Amino acid sequence: MTTDAHTAAPRSTAPWSRTARGANLLGSDGRLGITIFEEVTALAQKHAAINLGQGFPDEDGPREILDAARAAIADGANQYAPGQGLAVLRHAIAAHQERFYGLTVDAQTEVIVSTGATESIAAAILAFAGPGDEVLTFEPFYDSYGAVIGLSGATHTTAPLRAPDFQPDAADLEAAFSERTRIVVVNNPHNPTGSVFSRSALELIVRLAARYGAIIVTDEVYEHLTFGIPHLPVATLPGAAERTLTISSAGKTFSVTGWKIGWLSGPADLVAQVRTVKTFLTYTSGTPFQGAVALGLGLPDTYFSDAAATLRRKRDLLGEGLRAAGFDVFEPEGTFFTMVDAAPLGIEDATDLARRLPELIGVAAIPVAMFCHEEGAERTRSMLRFAFCKKFDVIEEGARRLGTLQARV
Ligand code: PMP
Ligand code: GLN
Repeated sequence: MTTDAHTAAPRSTAPWSRTARGANLLGSDGRLGITIFEEVTALAQKHAAINLGQGFPDEDGPREILDAARAAIADGANQYAPGQGLAVLRHAIAAHQERFYGLTVDAQTEVIVSTGATESIAAAILAFAGPGDEVLTFEPFYDSYGAVIGLSGATHTTAPLRAPDFQPDAADLEAAFSERTRIVVVNNPHNPTGSVFSRSALELIVRLAARYGAIIVTDEVYEHLTFGIPHLPVATLPGAAERTLTISSAGKTFSVTGWKIGWLSGPADLVAQVRTVKTFLTYTSGTPFQGAVALGLGLPDTYFSDAAATLRRKRDLLGEGLRAAGFDVFEPEGTFFTMVDAAPLGIEDATDLARRLPELIGVAAIPVAMFCHEEGAERTRSMLRFAFCKKFDVIEEGARRLGTLQARV
C-alpha cells in the first residue's frame, strides 16, 4: 500500500475508497485498515492466542479429496481450466443441487465455478448494480458485500436482524425494499449471527423481490452446516428460481477454505451475464482443486451429516464455556459461529475488548459491530462472534481461558 493511500482524504470517492468504506476499513481520520479477520488473526498470532476469530477449520478435510488434488497436480492438471469451470465439477454441482434440494440445474449453461464464493458474490453484484441502484443486505452483513457494493457505486441498504433470534422481520424488510432495489443478498445460514432463516421469512423475501423486480443473490456457503434444521435454498421456493442466483463454495463443507473453489447457479441468461464479469476478474482458477471438489460433492450423505453432527457438538462445547464465562449466548442454528453479548460482564465496547482479548487472556474473537453500519453497530456494540470450527481440545482450552475473563475486566 502506498503512503498516498494511507493518507488519502476520508471523503475520497475513488473506487478503492468506496470499497474500503463499504467494509468498514476506513477510519474517520482517513486511515486505511485491514479486514477485521486479518487484524484479529495477526493479534492471535502475536500473542499465541487461541484463534476463535477467523472462521477457518484447524483440521484438514476428507483425505480422499486432499489425495485427489495431489493426484491432479501429479497428473498434469496445472493449466487454465475452462472459464466456466471444469465440466466434471459443473456436473457435480448440478448433481448436488438435484440430490439435496431437488433443483434441476443445467451444468452447461446454468453453473459457473468461481474463485471462492467471494468471487461469485463480487461478479453478481458488479454485473447488476451500479450508481442509482440499491443493494439490500441484512445487517450484520459479511464484509465482502459492503466492499463490493461500495465498489459498484450502488447504495448499500440494510434490514436488521435483531437479538435474540436474528430472524428477518417482516416490517423491517418491507421498509427496506424500494423501487431502486436491484439486488437483495440473502446469506442463509447467516454469518455472523448463526441464524437459519425461517421458510416464511424466505418466502417474504421472494415476494418482495418479485414486487420490486430485484434479483436475489444467495450466499449459502454454510448450507451443510445446520444443526437439526434442513437447509432451504431460496431457489426452491415458488417464484424464486427465475430471479435467484445461488452461491456456495467448498471451503466450509470440506474444510478447505484455502482452496477458494466456489460456484454460482441460476437462470442461463443471468448466469451468462455474471460470467461476463467473472471472466475479467480472474478468468479461471484452481484447476487441480476443481476435480477434487467434484469428488467431494459426490461423497455419501453420511459425510455431510457427520460433519454437521461433529460441528454441533463443538457448538455445544463452546456454548457451555461461554455461558460459564458469564456471556449471554445466542445459540446458533448453523454456521461456524456463536454470537454472545458481553454486557453481563460489564463490557460495553466489544470492539475494544476484541483488540485486547488476545493479550489479556489468550483468546481471539471478532466484534460484531464490524459487520454493521452505524445503527447496527450501536445495536451490536457489546457483541462478539466466536468460531467453533476448531478441535475439541482447542475449544476446551479457549473456554477455560474465557473463564478467567470475568476476574480481569
Ligand atoms: N460468505 C460468507 C457468509 C462467509 O462466511 C465466507 C467466508 N468463508 C464467504 C462468503 C467466502 O467464501 P469463500 O472462501 O468460498 O470465498
Ligand atoms: N468467512 C470467514 C469468517 O467469517 C473469514 C473470511 C475472511 O477472512 N475474509 O470468519
